[in-house]
Amino acid sequence: MTFYLKPPRGNLNLYILEDCIKERLLCYNYLKNGSVDLTNFQYLVEDSSLDRTGHFILRLMACCNHTFEYDFVQKELKLLEVICLMLSNVFLKHIFTIGRNGCFIGCNLFVIEVPYYFCLSMTANRVVIIKNGLAQVPCTLWKDLLLGLYFTYLKKVMKCLKYSGYITCTLEDSRIQNIFQLVKNYTSGKNVRTMENESSFINFNNISNESKFFPLCMQNLFKVLERTNRLCYNDRFDFSLYMKTIGMSMSDSLKFWENTYSKECSTSSRCSHSWQKNGKRYIYGIRHLYGLEGSRKDYHCRSCTFLQERSLGARDEGGCPFRKFDDNNLRAILKTIFPNNPDEIEVMIYERNNDPNVACNLFFNIVFNIMTRKQLNQSMTFGSPANYYFQLKKLLAKES
Ligand code: SF4
Repeated sequence: MTFYLKPPRGNLNLYILEDCIKERLLCYNYLKNGSVDLTNFQYLVEDSSLDRTGHFILRLMACCNHTFEYDFVQKELKLLEVICLMLSNVFLKHIFTIGRNGCFIGCNLFVIEVPYYFCLSMTANRVVIIKNGLAQVPCTLWKDLLLGLYFTYLKKVMKCLKYSGYITCTLEDSRIQNIFQLVKNYTSGKNVRTMENESSFINFNNISNESKFFPLCMQNLFKVLERTNRLCYNDRFDFSLYMKTIGMSMSDSLKFWENTYSKECSTSSRCSHSWQKNGKRYIYGIRHLYGLEGSRKDYHCRSCTFLQERSLGARDEGGCPFRKFDDNNLRAILKTIFPNNPDEIEVMIYERNNDPNVACNLFFNIVFNIMTRKQLNQSMTFGSPANYYFQLKKLLAKES
């Protein structure tokens, strides 16, 4: 549990610094909707130098931007609260219940004595007794005590920073100005990542469950992967980019591919690579997709047009099934997804000959209908498989 007392030291590449900031802002976005699993954030490993870098740069921004200042303090407090919750399940439970068989919440057996000005809000709200200038904080309020202390500390150090005299020359640096722009986008509500819907949150653990929201092209690749544990290069590239665009973090992506490629490949797969033998190559490829290697480009999910036009090699399983599969193949895969909709399947097969997008739209409608028991009275257009996923999630979120 850190209060970010010391700023980070050393050199850092600019692109990593920007990623740190983007990830912290993304985490703030998730915190708006409640709690967040911090293990999904590679730059928020507590008290690591990158974690401190993200905090200190945003602290600097908060000093120059009133709107962001409030948000910054609230989100940093919320972050600390999440960490407190994690810790309470592990260590503090033992500290505060030591020697007792009893409770944790509601426990008043121990008292923490602190100078009253360390917990001003508790003092003001009369939740603690003051004796000789010391506030008697019942152990059950340890979390409020820490949060209050952190709040006071943040306010104080930000005030010092604001009037330090160094801030103006720092803000003249063009690299800092670019980061400032990211923060402005955040405060003005623009997304800091390519996520169109922040309610979506895909990770290594929930990908199997989330796959029911995937469009047919990506469901197909996911099923091939489940069946054979391998995908050829192009399909792996397309699927990785799709996962990245719908919000999977790089560390989860690495976990996902490691888990899959560590398994034996099925006899039907002609790929002989494995994580054990080729792990380094795969790690490089994934880092490259996330803009951390090579040309450091920020790749995004392929468009529907690309997947429909893509020429497939003998080993490729991908592309848009509504364009690339023959009738029998398409019927077979659709039957596994919609065993009770034989008529709709035939309509999709008919329609895809004129326009694969129309067939994909029908697919979307049937999924929506099965999940909500409602008919969708609007025609959808999808620019990419990721766009399909976001639109479906958005509509389902409205229904829930
Ligand atoms: S139309 Fe686009 S989203 Fe739908 S299956 Fe084809 S490529 Fe995927």
